[in-house]
Amino acid sequence: MSKKILYEGKAKQLYETEKPSELIQFFKDDATAFNKKKHEIIDSKGVLNNLISEYIFIYLDKNNISNHFIKRLSPREQLIKRVEIIPIEVVVRNIAAGTFSQRFGIDEGKHLPKTLIEFNLKDDENDDPLVSEEHMKVFGWAKSDEIEIMKKNALQINMLLSDLFKKINITLVDFKIEFGRFHSKNVSEIILADEISPDSCRLWDMSSNEKLDKDRFRRNIGGLIEAYKEVATRLEIDLSNI
Ligand code: UDP
Repeated sequence: MSKKILYEGKAKQLYETEKPSELIQFFKDDATAFNKKKHEIIDSKGVLNNLISEYIFIYLDKNNISNHFIKRLSPREQLIKRVEIIPIEVVVRNIAAGTFSQRFGIDEGKHLPKTLIEFNLKDDENDDPLVSEEHMKVFGWAKSDEIEIMKKNALQINMLLSDLFKKINITLVDFKIEFGRFHSKNVSEIILADEISPDSCRLWDMSSNEKLDKDRFRRNIGGLIEAYKEVATRLEIDLSNI
């Protein structure tokens, strides 16, 4: 029996399972940037992101960050809890880079005085506009208490991931996360969803500042798979089947 596809995104697909509370998240090899204006298939990217995201979600779970990951099903698939995605990309920044550097005219690489959290509406047609907490409340994208939970979790995740990457000589420059509402019985809980991988983080080698993330694709640097493999190898992820 073929599985029913529920959602197709730029880099992932979601399929239904027999259990209404569980889905399968499938990692594709598609790489996109600038709202799909740039698009390529990069062999093995999906497998690497599946493994790296799994590693990070298990690490976060061990550190009390509830998330949607249940287990790996295949090199490209993981079983996840079904959530109602909050349509907001939560971006955490330690160092200026990318669109943030352009927006404020701050040199890429400048450390911010304090960790910054930004919110973008998930809306490809309008290029994921930057939104404020007031926008989220007024338009009903997230409630006050949900925003507080997302902010608290985002800072905690930043501390945990900065620490994890520091141990393998990598600087966590910035990253994007998404949250969902997990409904079970009579309770609804906000949990971390989506993925955390070099597609959604900026990771710089601490010694050379070499980019080990999707900027290699966005900026036509090349060597994306080698960089993702380097991150996975430093995390001691088994790559023998790739
Ligand atoms: N990011 C992402 N998906 C997006 C936009 C950004 O995963 O649709 C990540 C990006 O990889 C980086 C961080 O969020 O780690 C901040 O991205 P920025 O706003 O600087 O945008 P970019 O320059 O990447 O377009």
